[in-house]
Amino acid sequence: MTRISGNRIIEAPCCKTQYSTPAYGSINLTAHEFWTDGRQVGSLFNGDGGLRRCACGEYFLLHMCDHIQTIPKTPYKPRAPKGWQSTKSNWWSRFWGKPTLGDYLLNYDIRTDEEIQAAEDALPPLTPYVDDADMPDVIEKSAKKREMQIIARRRMWQYLNDPFREAYRQHKQVNPDTFPSYAANEAQKENMLKLAYLLEDGYGPPWLEVAELCREVGDMDAAAKALLRAGKSDERLSEVIQQLIEMNYSGPARFRY
Ligand SMILES: [Zn+2]
Repeated sequence: MTRISGNRIIEAPCCKTQYSTPAYGSINLTAHEFWTDGRQVGSLFNGDGGLRRCACGEYFLLHMCDHIQTIPKTPYKPRAPKGWQSTKSNWWSRFWGKPTLGDYLLNYDIRTDEEIQAAEDALPPLTPYVDDADMPDVIEKSAKKREMQIIARRRMWQYLNDPFREAYRQHKQVNPDTFPSYAANEAQKENMLKLAYLLEDGYGPPWLEVAELCREVGDMDAAAKALLRAGKSDERLSEVIQQLIEMNYSGPARFRY
């Protein structure tokens, strides 16, 4: 279950502007569709890599922010009924198990409507999400930030594959045993190769993802080599990529766990 347990107040690294962002108590990772390029369709988890746009025009990642405080979700206690202040504590109320004045003070949210509204108004604005279509701008403005380059290029990769997903679904409805033809265009290939280089350049590259990138570019030899190095991080996805390499198929594919 995806449950929001409150608001985190964070400070952007670029200009120290404060934002709020939901603090998740638990996150649902199930999805309606899993794709070999990492796209999850129908998941409540937003696979945006934590990329946000600051009011100053810079981009940042949520984990790069200083955490100022977490404000628990309200009402985290039940609201006290109107007129709770005039609660009489007598033999009868105790007999019926009614809350006493002390109970209200300890275990109830005794703020007025105005106080609750003021607390909400005092929260800094939510961190603005960045649309997939803005990834070229993120790539341009974050040229020297490797981690942001990886996240933006990964999102661009999946975004550029989105039109093909629709063709794939339609094809699979009619011909479930075959795959629709696929060929990445030059812009897609350039982005995928740059992402693969960025990933390979780091410490402990995610070889499974590198294998998938090489496969979608159409370089099955490089894909097979990367897959050998991938280990057992995700056996199901490794198996799917292996089969697609053997078929010499370069399109992103939908699969089940
Ligand atoms: Zn800023």
